[in-house]
This record gives sequence, C-alpha cells and structure tokens, in this order.
Amino acid sequence: MTFTAAATKPPCIALLSEAIDMNYLVDTFRQSCPGIDLRLGNDLGPLEDIEAAVCWFPPHGLLAQLPRLELVQSLAAGIDHLVDDAALPREVPLCRVVDTTMTAGMNAYVCWAVVQQQRHMSAYVKSAAAAQWQEQPFVTPRRHRVGIAGLGNLGLACANSLATIGYDVRGWSRSAKAYLAEGVTAFHGDDQLDAFLSGCDTLVCLLPLTPQTHGFLNAELFSKLPRGAHLINVGRGDHLVEADLIAALASGQLRAATLDAFSVEPLPAEHPFWHDPRILVTPHIATRTDGLVIVQQTLDNLAALQRGERPRLQVDLARGY
Ligand code: NAP
Repeated sequence: MTFTAAATKPPCIALLSEAIDMNYLVDTFRQSCPGIDLRLGNDLGPLEDIEAAVCWFPPHGLLAQLPRLELVQSLAAGIDHLVDDAALPREVPLCRVVDTTMTAGMNAYVCWAVVQQQRHMSAYVKSAAAAQWQEQPFVTPRRHRVGIAGLGNLGLACANSLATIGYDVRGWSRSAKAYLAEGVTAFHGDDQLDAFLSGCDTLVCLLPLTPQTHGFLNAELFSKLPRGAHLINVGRGDHLVEADLIAALASGQLRAATLDAFSVEPLPAEHPFWHDPRILVTPHIATRTDGLVIVQQTLDNLAALQRGERPRLQVDLARGY
C-alpha cells in the first residue's frame, strides 16, 4: 500500500511505547509507505514534524508536546493506556485497532479457556502423563452457562462461537442489542447485571477498562455467581480486585480463574497468582494484532484526517471506549 493522502510528502510518524520495543513495525511501515519519516527511541528529533503517534503505553505528557499531532493511534483495541495520561491532547482524534486476526485469536483463547476448565482438560494432561485411563465427569455444554461481559467486537465473536459449540451463552453490554446470535441471550445496563450473572458457571470479562468498569470483578459480583464458578479475565488487570479473587478461591465461591491481564505486567515472580494451582496465568497473549493491520489503519486514518474526513474506528473519548 502507498500513502495517498493530500499530503505532498510521506508523513512523519512517531512510534511510542515505554512497555515494548516498537521496532517490529519499522519495516512494515517502510514497505507500506516508502519515504516515511519514522521517529522512535529516545531521540525523536524536532517534535513539530510529528503528524501521528502510534502508541502502547507512551510516556505520560509526551503527546501533549507534539504541536502538529493530527492522530493518536492506539496499537491495540483498548485505549486505557492512553487515557490515563492526564495531559492527553483530547482534541486530537484517537483511533483504536479492530482486526480480524485479533478477533480470531481472542475467540480461540476464550473457547479454549472455557473448554479447558469445563471438560477438566488439565486432569487429562496429568492422567496422560501417568499413563492412566481416567474419565472425568461429563456435563453437556448446554447445561453449562457462560456469561460474556462486553459484547463488542471481541465479546460478540466469542459468544457466537461458544453458542455454536452448544454452551448456554449470555452476554452483557451497556446498550441494548436488537439481536445477537441463536443461542445467545442479551442483557444490558446496570439494572440487568444481576440477572445476567445469575447461573453463570463461567464468567468472561471482555469489557474495556473505563471508570465504570474499573474493579468490576469484585467480591460482590463473585457472590452473585453460582458457587464454584470459573472466572476468565481477558479484559484488563484493573477490572479485577485481586484480593477479592484470592478470597473467593479460598472460600470455594470460585473454583478457578484463567487470567491474561494484570494490574502490573509482567506479573512479578512473587505474586500469589503464580503459586495458586486454581489460577492459570497467561502473559497477556490472549491475542495479538497483525502488524500490517496496525500500519495500514494508521496510514488510512491519517490520510482520512488530512482529507478532512473522520477516520475509521475513532474512539468516543466521552464514552471512554
Ligand atoms: P468494544 O468493541 O469497544 O466493546 C466493548 C463492549 O463492552 C461493548 O459491548 C460495550 O457495550 C461494553 N461495555 C462498555 N462499558 C460497559 C459498561 N459500563 N457496562 C456494560 N457494558 C459495557 O471492545 P473490544 O474490541 O471487544 O475489546 C474489549 C476489551 O478487550 C478491550 O478494551 C481490551 O481491554 C481487551 N483486550 C484484551 C486483549 C488481550 O490480549 N488480553 C486483546 C485485545 C483486547 P456497548 O456494546 O453497549 O457499547
């Protein structure tokens, strides 16, 4: 792809992260947009050149120092790593990534996590290692209720797949959904939260992190699930009140947790989650975005803005996701 904006020369784009090495995007940007002026690392050059910033946990305050910034592009579906910067220039359009590869990856992870627990797959791994032909109890999927909190791009795909496998699926969102898929029951809003949680043997969190959803996974919520439920958190670490999870597992209110996102990442080696056999920790790998998609969406979004158009997937900052 070539950059086809009204701009007379290829754009100047900064790749900003305090968490990861952004060099992995450099070749794809250069192949997609010959002549592009990429800035990354400690020396960003003259800040007034930078027209767009591709970000994953950028240094706080830096975006506010870019006087010609036209686009803030999140590297991810979520934007919580940007809006927690008090100096974020909120007048600059902010876009997130939506990507079929990312959706498929999340879909696979969530189906795996549900099936892994519900079908006792860890027990089979242990039996196999000991050459033991040992059957575990079998419960048909339709007798196992899975609740998906967050019916957006990712949650909806997971709900559909789990319903196809035969699970009794329900989803919860902020606004009412006219129709989901066959076998998926929809709930929305705080008034319907308790009804949504009722009877959920597995609860999946696929909410965005906003002031309303911070600490969503807490003791009160766990108490509304059936005893022995399984929690899957693939949203953000701050959705979860960690001490409440530890207490719920200790009391038996929850049986297991599969966690992919944490308040502190990497999860410190001494963190109790690593050492609890009821908790399966994965290192924020539930899914990944294709680098080429990030590059294409960034170039397309910047080109749209420079034509005076609204870019795709611009986030409503007032709504928070
Ligand atoms: P999305 O398309 O923006 O969907 C968000 C969903 O959450 C929507 O259904 C929305 O309701 C609902 N929601 C938001 N606030 C709510 C509230 N207060 N009460 C009830 N429902 C609420 O987001 P997405 O692309 O599916 O991504 C979801 C999140 O997954 C991301 O924000 C990110 O944190 C996480 N994620 C994790 C990984 C990983 O590897 N672990 C990877 C990608 C994304 P409406 O439909 O009514 O708007």
